[in-house]
Amino acid sequence: MPIEFEAPKPVVQTQFVLKTVAEEMMRSNSRYFDEHEHEIPWDYIEFMHTAMKAMGVGSLAPKDKGNGHGNGGEEKEKRPSISYQLLAAQIEMLAWGDVGMYLVTPGGGLGAAAVQAAGTPEQKSKFLERFSGEKPTLAAMCMTEAGAGSDTASIRTRAVLDEKTNEWVLNGEKIFVTSGDKAFSEYEKLGRGFIVVWASIDPSVGRAGMRAFVVEAGTPGVRIVKLERKMGIRASDTAAISLVDAHVPYDNVLGSPTVEKTTSGFKGAMATFDATRPLVAASGLGVARAALEFLKEKLTENGVQIRYGLPRQKLTSVERDVIDMEIMLKSAWLMVIKAVWMADNKKSNVLEASMSKIKAGDACTKITQKVVEILGPLGYSREFLAEKWFRDAKITDIYEGTGQINRLVVARQILGYSGKELR
Ligand SMILES: Cc1cc2nc3c(=O)[nH]c(=O)nc-3n(C[C@H](O)[C@H](O)[C@H](O)COP(=O)(O)OP(=O)(O)OC[C@H]3O[C@@H](n4cnc5c(N)ncnc54)[C@H](O)[C@@H]3O)c2cc1C
Repeated sequence: MPIEFEAPKPVVQTQFVLKTVAEEMMRSNSRYFDEHEHEIPWDYIEFMHTAMKAMGVGSLAPKDKGNGHGNGGEEKEKRPSISYQLLAAQIEMLAWGDVGMYLVTPGGGLGAAAVQAAGTPEQKSKFLERFSGEKPTLAAMCMTEAGAGSDTASIRTRAVLDEKTNEWVLNGEKIFVTSGDKAFSEYEKLGRGFIVVWASIDPSVGRAGMRAFVVEAGTPGVRIVKLERKMGIRASDTAAISLVDAHVPYDNVLGSPTVEKTTSGFKGAMATFDATRPLVAASGLGVARAALEFLKEKLTENGVQIRYGLPRQKLTSVERDVIDMEIMLKSAWLMVIKAVWMADNKKSNVLEASMSKIKAGDACTKITQKVVEILGPLGYSREFLAEKWFRDAKITDIYEGTGQINRLVVARQILGYSGKELR
């Protein structure tokens, strides 16, 4: 199946619609929510919920591979889904508007992605239905702990089955949970969300013992203990969550509850990342595009035109910088398209998902930094958003696997090493 380089019609249409949202609801409020960290952009949340319901889109989370938007009936037989491609384009456009606000778009986010990756068909319908409900609803995923970030297999949160009640009892503390507060706390305007908590059911077997548990909002014993104050993406809450003897129904363990001597639990976590890394990459590229477009606008206002087509030695240094940034942006986007195309075509995309995130992480941090540099005081001033984009971009290279960790994944894939052999 060849890759088509022209964006399919639904992608173009969705970008057109979302551009208005990005301009009218996000860009215009970007600075406000940056400076009022932890204030919730209710207007945006409610608008997006209504709009997504009207469009029949319950959630901005990956759907089942090959079971998404775009094609129906007989057509579905002939053409693969474009659901991931569509999602990547939507996310890029919303992040172009404001990446912090995009992260509070109602829907399942990482929490729903984990259910999609590790849940049974029954669990998917049980836990994901709520995102098309009356109220906007969010979900989150809790993997990271104080002693386990990149090294996810070192998590210490424990889940023990209480034989009497037939419930799982969870104990541990999770940190840096995106949307943890909105997914777990009870807000009048939000529907009941959940957090997906990764815990070990048997630490003696390492990765084989890792399982994901759906913990419903308001579960006794679970508390939001801290909201991070951050450098960027300030419209998005990042929570620390403590679990003390939190009882969770038996059926809320995603996938198999028994410990086989396999790494199926850990594979569930990694499958989540295969699905979401290209989408994180897309969000970073939205930020980079915003910054680059702003720079070009300012250059045009000052009479500087990029003379495409001239030999490189005849270009000014600024022209060369802009062209180099455009190359970085476009090549990273092509990597994203390849990774989502593979997901849509049900091909394993471990390598491409990590590659796309590395490329996008590099591109958006370098581009936003260069834009601030070229703009000089205008770039540094809070009068414009360039300095904010610079701060917002960095997270692309941190969450869902840092740049270094994704480079390890790529090296293992290319060289054929296991996680134990190359770390
Ligand atoms: C704003 C924000 C939101 C987040 N959201 C979530 C979320 O929703 N859910 C969640 O579970 N987590 C979330 N995280 C956590 C994030 O995924 C981790 O911070 C990240 O995986 C890195 O883990 P760590 O912080 O423990 O750093 P460490 O693992 O301690 O890494 C520190 C540095 O060492 C490098 N390093 C580590 N190991 C190696 C190695 N083997 N080789 C080379 N370099 C290495 C890393 O690349 C990094 O530069 C979020 C983090 C932030 C900042």
